[in-house]
Amino acid sequence: MAENELQHVHTLLLQLQDVLREKFSLESEIEALPANLREKENALNIANSKYLELNEACLKAKQEATSNSIKYDDAVRARTDAEKMVEKISLQREYEALTKQIDEARVVENALLKARTASNALVEELTGKLEKQSEVCDSLKAEVEEERAKIDDLLAQKKAKISELDARCDEIRTEGVSDDIYAKFCRIVKNKSGLGITPIIQGQVCSGCHMILPMQFVNDVRLGTNTIEYCPYCSRILYYKEDEEAIDLTDFESEAGDDFFAGAISDEDLDNL
Ligand SMILES: [Zn+2]
Repeated sequence: MAENELQHVHTLLLQLQDVLREKFSLESEIEALPANLREKENALNIANSKYLELNEACLKAKQEATSNSIKYDDAVRARTDAEKMVEKISLQREYEALTKQIDEARVVENALLKARTASNALVEELTGKLEKQSEVCDSLKAEVEEERAKIDDLLAQKKAKISELDARCDEIRTEGVSDDIYAKFCRIVKNKSGLGITPIIQGQVCSGCHMILPMQFVNDVRLGTNTIEYCPYCSRILYYKEDEEAIDLTDFESEAGDDFFAGAISDEDLDNL
């Protein structure tokens, strides 16, 4: 690849970088969109379960109240029947037995009256709670539907914008970026915080990861003698800016030392980004 051709590719990649950053940012936003919806859906599910529990408790309480009511009516009947019999008996012994029976029936009747009152109160309480819970469920359901509609709307807008950005990428690519380089570059931009191509600064430092690069590698990049060069440390594509001055490098780190073989980043490395 001739130098000016390589520079042309670098220029195109810099343009692509801006477009890809915007695209990836939109994709992240799309991924984050349903989080709020999921939260509201969870709240609705919990509210619905609580409603079902309350409904079951309410039905049970109603059955209990009906049963208590029947038992109480039976008890009242038993007592009044016994009272009616009092008029018909003549023997004192029978009278005492019957009076005792009536007293006992009255105790049972009172107990059942209390039970009936308590179960009716429980039905009333649970019915009130059920109504309130039903309102909570309706309100949450409306929120979920509203959120869903909002998401659908935002999703459509963001997807439309992504389509525009894809078209812009295609335009730039046709000016001279191969499919292979484009695919690698997309991965780098995505995985390296939106910075896929970056200049060598201070004569020997990758401005993406701030590592000192081997001189031979820097020369290759500067002379454009090789194809596209990737930073051996961070995998970003590097280019050289002539106006950058070499400086004292003691502030920077070096992992590789002088023996480092420049430009040795494999496709596998890039795949593992
Ligand atoms: Zn680097």
